[in-house]
Amino acid sequence: MNDFEAGTVWLVGAGPGDPELLTRKAERLIRAGSVIFHDALVGPGILELVARSAKLVPVGKRSGRHSRDQKTIDAMIVEAALAGERVVRLKGGDPAIFARAAEEMNACRKAGVPVCICPGVTAASAAAADLGASLTLRGLARKLVFVTAHARAGDELNLDWGSLADPEATLAVYMGKAAASTVSARLIAAGLPRHTPVALVENASLDNSRHFVTRLDLLPIAARSALGNGPALILIGAGLRRNTSPESSFMASRKKRLILEIDVNSEKA
Ligand code: SAH
Repeated sequence: MNDFEAGTVWLVGAGPGDPELLTRKAERLIRAGSVIFHDALVGPGILELVARSAKLVPVGKRSGRHSRDQKTIDAMIVEAALAGERVVRLKGGDPAIFARAAEEMNACRKAGVPVCICPGVTAASAAAADLGASLTLRGLARKLVFVTAHARAGDELNLDWGSLADPEATLAVYMGKAAASTVSARLIAAGLPRHTPVALVENASLDNSRHFVTRLDLLPIAARSALGNGPALILIGAGLRRNTSPESSFMASRKKRLILEIDVNSEKA
């Protein structure tokens, strides 16, 4: 199949980390690329697929530690394509979800460079799989909202809390770790019950994946005390109560106790 000519760009979804969650198309494109610009979240198991002759360029952004700004990345992609490379822009999860795809596509189009998207498994899907839970549930969770809790440096997190506090929705909060306290407080203030189930899933799909279930009012403590340095997704919604697996509920009760203990101790201190 020749859909990858010299001088063109593919924005390729690498999925949540597990190389087996790559699509076959993504794998083919990664093998065929002559220059691969990749995010920090794309792991070694996937980068192994890159051809020996290809150039691997990390352009990773982990929050607060931007290695390159977006404009520079846009320019690098365009320049490589104009030089006749087969350019893969490899992104964690799905390239069309919180991944600056629009900026990169616009830059390509402006320069007359053909650009296409190869979709990937997004973090919310991988998190649900690790939890053994469904993101939607008949009658209980009829709406699934992908929302980012990342605000620009210095800006307040400005979301429509009223519409997010929908008891029939499941919220998949991307980049939510730092804003966990705000998310919890604002959703409760907007009317979402304090006991609404919350699941935190770190490193979804990877061998070091961790997850546990808590409640909305305990989310700030949970995010502070129970998460490591990996990417983490926060799922919020009444639907999660009904369908998290027995194993995750077991983990939940142990972790919740741990979290409560940490909380009591910190108040004593
Ligand atoms: N395009 C990506 C999202 C990029 S935003 C996608 O579709 O998944 C980066 C955020 O995604 C992280 O802060 C985290 O909230 C989430 N994320 C990405 N990979 C993850 C993983 N393996 N486990 C949990 N969350 C993940």
